[in-house]
Amino acid sequence: AQEGILRRQSARESAARTYARALPIVPVRARGMTIEGADGRRYLDCLSGAGTLALGHNHPVVLEAIRRVLDSGAPLHVLDLATPVKDAFTTELFRTLPAGLAERARIQFCGPAGTDAVEAALKLVRTATGRSGLLAFTGAYHGMTAGALEVSGGAQNVSVARLPYPQDYRCPFGIGGERGAELSARWTESLIDDPKSGVPLPAGMILEPVQGEGGVIPAPDAWMRRMRELTAARSIPLIADEVQTGVGRTGAFWAVEHSGVVPDVMVLSKAIGGSLPLAVVVYRDDLDVWEPGAHAGTFRGNQLAMAAGAATLAYVRENRLAERAALLGARMVGRLQGLAAEHPCIGDVRGRGLMIGVELVEPETPQNPDLPAAPDLSPFPPAPELAASVQRECLRRGLIVELGGRHSSVVRLLPPLTITDEQAAAVVERLADALAEAAR
Ligand code: PMP
Repeated sequence: AQEGILRRQSARESAARTYARALPIVPVRARGMTIEGADGRRYLDCLSGAGTLALGHNHPVVLEAIRRVLDSGAPLHVLDLATPVKDAFTTELFRTLPAGLAERARIQFCGPAGTDAVEAALKLVRTATGRSGLLAFTGAYHGMTAGALEVSGGAQNVSVARLPYPQDYRCPFGIGGERGAELSARWTESLIDDPKSGVPLPAGMILEPVQGEGGVIPAPDAWMRRMRELTAARSIPLIADEVQTGVGRTGAFWAVEHSGVVPDVMVLSKAIGGSLPLAVVVYRDDLDVWEPGAHAGTFRGNQLAMAAGAATLAYVRENRLAERAALLGARMVGRLQGLAAEHPCIGDVRGRGLMIGVELVEPETPQNPDLPAAPDLSPFPPAPELAASVQRECLRRGLIVELGGRHSSVVRLLPPLTITDEQAAAVVERLADALAEAAR
């Protein structure tokens, strides 16, 4: 059955299919961190629906919340009408919001995906400020619809000023650390303030507190505060895209809490729907300048997703899973850094909480001396082919990992926050075996 399904899907699906290419499995059952394929093989899932499954697959509290709605006879589709399910979701979400925003928050329910909420956020700040330009960062990922693509890394667009995201490894200024981040902040400041830069006062700045698809790059807290200060001083709304970093993943309920930054707008999706599609924008009430109907969407009211999401948010909060993510994440990063000592192909191990990246490099190939001195702190080039073969070897050993980063050379680990100590140890062990095999 498995082979037939794989063959038919690869023949019928778009050439753009991605995960299905690298992970030729047919999941038929899943619980917690474990996925079972149609062929009976079991896998530890470190992909978690691209960071969606805070509680893993089919957590009992999520299933129970969904069943309760189904058994109650409540309508499943009601556009954006008020319902008890929506009331419970909003109450639980608002309870988790950072102080400073929670007391004055407004929520806009969006189309079902993260990218829909990004669109809404960009539209909101443009409407509120009457300006159109945007500030966005290199390596950013905000989604696949037109506006979200505009602010994602690599896009070329006149209305978006692209700023250097601070990073230690492969720092664009070749400095790294606090000084690299400081240079990135100064660059940003001068771009906004220098009339010669040609950048008009923008409608907003959008950033990920930890870049996910960009290769798991955590922004330093001091840099985050600098971004807050410089946007506040110029009345530029700051949009935090917490689609991937939210709901405990980075070791705080929201990743902005690490720095104490209170954004004007937060874009939320993935884990807030408890494994079902849900996306919202939360923002300070004075930005709520929309006319009635100025933003809409048929599928803004997914009742099952709100119920699953409310149950997930409450479970993460009550069980302090963000703290657990911080603890287990640090432990896993420590073990992976230990591996780096044995495997020269590991160029860098980084992360925050249970959002972890292992950047693979070609240690045999020094940078080309004929190229102009690369403003880069890594002595070795990225190794995308090695990363792809590590992903394959992981799969053979029953471990699902994702690749990311600008060169697809970063092995990304996004386990559920409910990962056990034993599972965390097994992940590192299987990854170590896969590395040994692939680097051979
Ligand atoms: N923003 C961030 C930070 C993301 O990681 C993603 C998805 N990986 C998105 C936006 C887009 O979400 P979606 O794929 O649900 O449209």
